[in-house]
Amino acid sequence: MADIGRIVHEVAQEMAAHPERGEVASYIPPLAHVDPGQFGLCIVTSDGVTHAAGDAEEPFSIQSVSKVFALTQALGKVGDTLWRRVGREPSGTPFNSIVQLEREQGIPRNPFINAGALVVSDVNLAGHEPRVAIGELLRFIRYLAEDETIVIDETVARAEQETGFRNIALANYMKAFGNLTHAAPLTLGVYFHQCAIAMSCRQLAMAGRYLMLGGLHSPGGARVISAQRARRINALMLTCGHYDASGDFAFRVGLPGKSGVGGGILAIAPGKAAIAVWSPGLNECGNSRLGTLALERIAEATGWSVFSPSGSGRS
Ligand code: GLN
Repeated sequence: MADIGRIVHEVAQEMAAHPERGEVASYIPPLAHVDPGQFGLCIVTSDGVTHAAGDAEEPFSIQSVSKVFALTQALGKVGDTLWRRVGREPSGTPFNSIVQLEREQGIPRNPFINAGALVVSDVNLAGHEPRVAIGELLRFIRYLAEDETIVIDETVARAEQETGFRNIALANYMKAFGNLTHAAPLTLGVYFHQCAIAMSCRQLAMAGRYLMLGGLHSPGGARVISAQRARRINALMLTCGHYDASGDFAFRVGLPGKSGVGGGILAIAPGKAAIAVWSPGLNECGNSRLGTLALERIAEATGWSVFSPSGSGRS
């Protein structure tokens, strides 16, 4: 068994000193002011032990990482009927692309690109006021993380509402195809607020445990979702979690992962660990540059890639 504590500290040290940190997202104004010098890492292993290093306690905007939790919530509400409204294929396009929607009649390729996440928000909104729908998601995340201090950053939510023209276009476009049940501003309100949830690496890794544990909340704990559903969400994270860089992420890291433009990534080594990394500088596809590199190092050092023979240890 690799020494996880040592790996976590070595990787955090290397990343803290790394000169090439990528560019912070500037299209959401509050994110443009985040210091790119930060790096946080937390790993929770299957026995429930956490190892954290760097800025692991610093809350950041989870952005599209929220799509994993929102998808879990939507599947809980409507089950497999969700797949009538959203696909399960990698898009090969950027996260905010509109081009495929025209050809594919308003059915987004997968739930992790923005268009697909908007459909998921629309499902989660059914029967609720937007405030109640977002409260439900926040409570779910707090339960998963066992942390009542997790909140929504209202400044980020408002900024997205004011500048999210592409998302507004995507929602209206799907509305035109009949794939949005609510008025577009209501669905967008839910989506923008879920993206504005702020969490630390420690909170995010804890919240991701159910995906490492075949659907259990914690080691030996309550069932959150079925094992089959956990497996399927992991499969979608592996194939679609990094937009048009999903193939490259699988090649380099080999773990299900979901990124956000706040610089966070949640990665799952099924049966072994839930890993959260954060570094605000992004690569050209909008994924954390050092977060990806750190996960590559961790996968190498632990042998946790889902493509390694199980129990092979170091690669
Ligand atoms: N809120 C962001 C957006 O909709 C989320 C994108 C992301 O994290 N990739 O543009």
